[in-house]
Amino acid sequence: MTYAAKPHQKSKALKPGSRRPAKELCSECGLCDTSYIHYVKEACAFINQQFDKLETLVHGRSRDLDSPEELYFGVHQSMMQARKKEPIPGAQWTGIVSTIAIEMLERGLVEGVVCVQSAVDDRFTPVPVIAKTREDILAAKVNKPTLSPNLNILDLVERSGLKKLLVIGVGCQIQALRAVQDKIGLEKLYVLGTPCTDNVSRAGLQKFLETTSRSPETVVYYEFMQDFNVHFKYEDGSTELVPFFGLNTKELKDVFAPSCLSCFDYTNALADIVVGYMGAEFGSQWIVVRNETGAEMLELVQDAITTKPVMSQGNRKEAVQQGIAAYDQAMTLPMWFAKALGVVIKQIGPKGLEYARFSIDSHFTRNYLFVKRNYASKLDQHVPEFAKRIVAQYKLPKS
Ligand code: FAD
Ligand code: SF4
Repeated sequence: MTYAAKPHQKSKALKPGSRRPAKELCSECGLCDTSYIHYVKEACAFINQQFDKLETLVHGRSRDLDSPEELYFGVHQSMMQARKKEPIPGAQWTGIVSTIAIEMLERGLVEGVVCVQSAVDDRFTPVPVIAKTREDILAAKVNKPTLSPNLNILDLVERSGLKKLLVIGVGCQIQALRAVQDKIGLEKLYVLGTPCTDNVSRAGLQKFLETTSRSPETVVYYEFMQDFNVHFKYEDGSTELVPFFGLNTKELKDVFAPSCLSCFDYTNALADIVVGYMGAEFGSQWIVVRNETGAEMLELVQDAITTKPVMSQGNRKEAVQQGIAAYDQAMTLPMWFAKALGVVIKQIGPKGLEYARFSIDSHFTRNYLFVKRNYASKLDQHVPEFAKRIVAQYKLPKS
């Protein structure tokens, strides 16, 4: 898509640390650190939910709510499981995201890539950059599992005069980006999204690591995986698996950012292409191509990846329903029982797309209750129709 540039009306960026317009729901997406704060009331994902409008702008139509797959995964042309033939060492999974970015830059489709490197003194403190070389992109590989102000580079993009840009980001960042994309002076914008849930502030991450990991100071990577374990990797190369059902729910209930507890954009509805893992079997990545631009981006890496069709197995419904009450009561199981339960669920539990639906249902019901209990006046406008339909499949506590 090419954008007819619209004049950018500027306002003064907020000072670091000052209260943002979305107040405690702010996900620190970075928009308010720039002159684009002028558009915050319309653009902020936590002030103005506008999936229908933005899906139509980006994909030419909103999602088909009567299609079971679009209801869950948004507008798309195709989905698949994939792996890089030669994984990038140190990437979050096999490095498909970094590889697409490198190909786009080196083949001249874009002049810069917005991605997230780490602070020099802390690998988990995110530093958004406009990467202009392969090395810059590789320096951004692996998740910084904390709220990242990716859009704080918007003024820099405009000043640099870039015309063709790739932005890598999570749902809340991309919602705000899409709302202002015609003001940035770009001729072409590509968006490579990842799914995202349960993100945390840097302080929240420390609490999560200290509560869950055997060596919080040496964690280099972690992921909640499809085998119902959190996988930690440590500096010495060792790994640790902690079963989901053994997490200290009571301690961790307040760790997740309020923005993430009120988010319904798990699968990044407004990206051109999404690369995650949740709809794939254990060990593979999951790719959702949403539109022609996304198909063009995937084509660039076809020779570097192996793909196979998505699969779906099991039935999530009962596990989700039981999980709603367990989470509400902050139940924590003894570790031996959690491990045993994890082994059984791994064998008979939901797999592939059904695992993705399990995860979406669990998060949407939890988040619906969070918004209802804490921001009741926002509930109707903030929760999109697709999420309301998903949540309506379950019996929720009355209050
Ligand atoms: P790599 O090649 O390692 O590249 C990772 C890219 O992520 C880099 O380009 C970097 O710029 C970007 N990035 C890193 N940290 C951030 C951040 N904080 N905000 C925005 N961009 C960032 N997938 C799921 O299927 N389910 C999930 O629940 C899920 N949660 C996620 C939560 C977060 C905070 C993030 C960043 C990603 C999440 N993902 C999730 C996506 C998944 O973990 C992988 O990032 C994805 O599969 C790409 O792997 P890769 O090896 O191709 O990425
Ligand atoms: Fe501003 Fe982004 Fe926070 Fe919304 S989420 S208030 S747009 S920084």
